[in-house]
Amino acid sequence: TFEPLASDFYAYESLLTEQEKEALGNLRAWLERDVRPIVGDYWDRAEFPVQIVKPLADLGAFSFGWDETRPFENSAVFRGFVALECARVDAGVATFVGVQNGLATGSISVCGSAEQRAEWIPRLASGEVIGAFGLTEPESGSDSAQGLRTTAERDGDNWVLNGSKRWIGNATFSDITVIWAKDVADSQVKGFIVPTSTPGYTATKIEGKISLRSVQNADITLENVVVPESLRLQNANSFKDTASVLRLTRAEVAWAAVGTSIGAYEAAVKYAGERVQFGKTIGSHQLIQDLLVKCLGNITASLGMVVRVSEMLDRGEQRDEHSALAKAYTTSRMRETVAWARESVGGNGIVLEYDVARFFADAEALYSYEGTREMNTLIVGRKITGRAAFV
Ligand code: FAD
Repeated sequence: TFEPLASDFYAYESLLTEQEKEALGNLRAWLERDVRPIVGDYWDRAEFPVQIVKPLADLGAFSFGWDETRPFENSAVFRGFVALECARVDAGVATFVGVQNGLATGSISVCGSAEQRAEWIPRLASGEVIGAFGLTEPESGSDSAQGLRTTAERDGDNWVLNGSKRWIGNATFSDITVIWAKDVADSQVKGFIVPTSTPGYTATKIEGKISLRSVQNADITLENVVVPESLRLQNANSFKDTASVLRLTRAEVAWAAVGTSIGAYEAAVKYAGERVQFGKTIGSHQLIQDLLVKCLGNITASLGMVVRVSEMLDRGEQRDEHSALAKAYTTSRMRETVAWARESVGGNGIVLEYDVARFFADAEALYSYEGTREMNTLIVGRKITGRAAFV
């Protein structure tokens, strides 16, 4: 049976169908049983629990969104709740899913030909193939629409890729990485499905992260990497096509930001009911209740926003500025929420054992990836004023 979440205060889950609730309930039960107990330890060791990939695939986490693989008709709101549910247990798990399902599979779904979709999406959905998404470079982050230095040069039936990428999630163990590169002939950004076993491709783990430690981010170098024309994403003709992928995934990050906020808030509520100071549980003190209510206010406002942005996707009304505003707003509220939750746990709020510290640290990466708050703000600013401030 499906138990509604107390932290979904206005009961947005009631928008889901019975079939969606059942699938979400199965995911939730598995995450609580098999994932929550291990994530703190993996975070501490900066390792990813690869054994969870197969169960995630079996539960549908990489299949729900695609024509080729969806097990039943479902809504974007449901798929948002899947991202929320993963993040509520661990933002690193949600990020893994966001890369595999959103960025990698999404690129192939949005920009691939029918043949490319038929070949790759079922393999990514089953977890047989692990995907990554290589856009950001050492010298090009926020300005990747204009500033990419990685080049693609046509050579007969092949393309030759040269350059470097930074921060690429899942890339230490991905089987394929979607690489975005500038075509030297027309200077347009194009996408390539690059098998990571291709000679000239190397990925090196980025060490020393203080956020999303379990997510494996890599620096990639491409030295005369040869890929056939059949692996060029046939419908990726300019950065506008890359942006169509990011529009979808930014909305999913917004959902994950709400999940991360809920994870921290629920840890704080639990602690408030257990910790005794001045002869009563701290949850009985007015100022702790104030912190918890501010958290719930942020969560509830953000949830309303992401539900609406997903409904707009299903109606074909979602534009870049809609998901940009959701990403910028919900990650900003998340940053406040995880800080208030951490504050309410006192000293124990900075150790992994009490969960809230992990959400607090992981929130920083969600705030910056898939477009910083500034860049998403400027996308909305362009819509409001008709002027692009970032060109
Ligand atoms: P910069 O672009 O150097 O920005 C630095 C600061 O300057 C930011 O505050 C930014 O907002 C601000 N700034 C820049 N330009 C302007 C402007 N015009 N006006 C106002 N402020 C501005 N990338 C991938 O391709 N694939 C991945 O899988 C991936 N995963 C990631 C995972 C993690 C954990 C992290 C941290 C990053 C990941 N990224 C990935 C990269 C991420 O998308 C970039 O970090 C992000 O886009 C910001 O780029 P940057 O870090 O180079 O910062």
